[in-house]
Amino acid sequence: MKRKLVFATNNLHKLEEVSAILSSQIELLSLNDINCHVDIPETADTLEGNALLKSRFIYEQYNIDCFADDTGLEVEALGGAPGVYSARYAGDNHNSEANMLKLLNMLKDQNNRKAQFRTAISLIINGKEYLFEGIIKGKIGNFKKGNSGFGYDPIFIPEGYNETFAELGSDIKNKISHRALAINKLCEFLHSL
Ligand code: IMP
Repeated sequence: MKRKLVFATNNLHKLEEVSAILSSQIELLSLNDINCHVDIPETADTLEGNALLKSRFIYEQYNIDCFADDTGLEVEALGGAPGVYSARYAGDNHNSEANMLKLLNMLKDQNNRKAQFRTAISLIINGKEYLFEGIIKGKIGNFKKGNSGFGYDPIFIPEGYNETFAELGSDIKNKISHRALAINKLCEFLHSL
């Protein structure tokens, strides 16, 4: 029988990314699939904390194996900011354009442009909790470039490339990204069970 596993998201892009890697022995369910329509609070001050909050919420309410993720962009010269606050860096309305403008402005006179995307995944299987992490190092460009992707993609240049994530496109990004690395670790673990 297939093992059922909830991914605490309704983001189709993320669901597809995980389904593509997971073995067909695992049936991946979204929050919609389990009729969960609440906005699970993300009130922790770390990525791991938020991922845990979301996975614990689902496990406690629905008693089903599940995992949740949280991602942040960590900029060295800003002491790791915006980090866990990446989605609302320029305000609560989650506006990517405003977030990027704010970040470019904060780094205006800064030579150190090192940054990394970090994804934390919290998995709960039979009540046991596991954490996985994926990191991609890179730097923040001087201005926006490229049209693909989302969030901070037009200003993030991964190590080993001269183009931003938004210029590289999804084929390359999905192979090397923070999320892909964390998801690969999660899938490896699930397949080893
Ligand atoms: P989430 O935890 O995946 O929802 O990510 C939180 C925020 O981090 C998003 O709202 C984006 O601003 C940013 N972010 C996460 N992943 C990426 C990415 O792959 N590219 C660009 N920005 C991202």
